Amino acid sequence: MSNGKNDIPEIEFLRSAGLFEPYSMEERAFNLFWELDRHFTIEEFHRILHRSGLQLPLESVGAMLSDLVLHGLAHEVHFGREKALRYEPLHIGEHHDHLICISCGGISEFESPELETVQSKAVEGKGFRPFRHTLQIFGVCPECDRKRDKAIPLMKAGVGEFVKIESCGGDKACIAHLAAMGLREGQVVEVLSAGEDAPVILLAGGGRVGIGAELAENITVKPIDVRDTTGVDDDRTIPSQQCRRRRQRRHRKGWRKR
Ligand SMILES: [Zn+2]
Ligand SMILES: [Zn+2]
Ligand SMILES: [Zn+2]
Repeated sequence: MSNGKNDIPEIEFLRSAGLFEPYSMEERAFNLFWELDRHFTIEEFHRILHRSGLQLPLESVGAMLSDLVLHGLAHEVHFGREKALRYEPLHIGEHHDHLICISCGGISEFESPELETVQSKAVEGKGFRPFRHTLQIFGVCPECDRKRDKAIPLMKAGVGEFVKIESCGGDKACIAHLAAMGLREGQVVEVLSAGEDAPVILLAGGGRVGIGAELAENITVKPIDVRDTTGVDDDRTIPSQQCRRRRQRRHRKGWRKR
């Protein structure tokens, strides 16, 4: 991090590379990018610049962020299904991974030397020489988790989340509909896919079950922490346990080119 505005080595590097004119609007924009040290989409950073009195056009902001990537001063990051790319400063000698909240979109960083060692060891046996990696963990942040403690509509459950079916709109027809699909109240299922106006795909009873968006809106579920199964009435209802053996078989396969 810099003490003063233009004493950071990155500015000298960018000037010598001919990217910015000294004290230009782009250079001031870069200073802000570096100091805020966050994960911006082009649009978000454009808004921040405008609020700070730097009236750069959107296209110039996009071009500037791409140039920073090409000059080794920024990373492009793509989080999950988000359409827009994000940009974050690339600090020399630093590495972190990301936690992404599916509820509020918040991004948090974490560093774990133990995890890095485990990852290196895991690929050693494959004869693969790793250069870089990205690790993104999707879930809910503590604040959103507190709010989600009660029952939520199935539509609001996150991909990869385990939930317990609480109720089905209080409607007999709805419950019969669930039963016909092999689902029942109290059952724990894993969300395999969920998107706006798309069917929710669940892993239940060892297989995939698709629920139309309309029916999914009527189903309320309770998020389950799979690390704590005290709330789960029956071990066999945890879908991941049913499929574990199948997964292990698949993972034993060796290195294959694609
Ligand atoms: Zn890492
Ligand atoms: Zn959140
Ligand atoms: Zn980051």
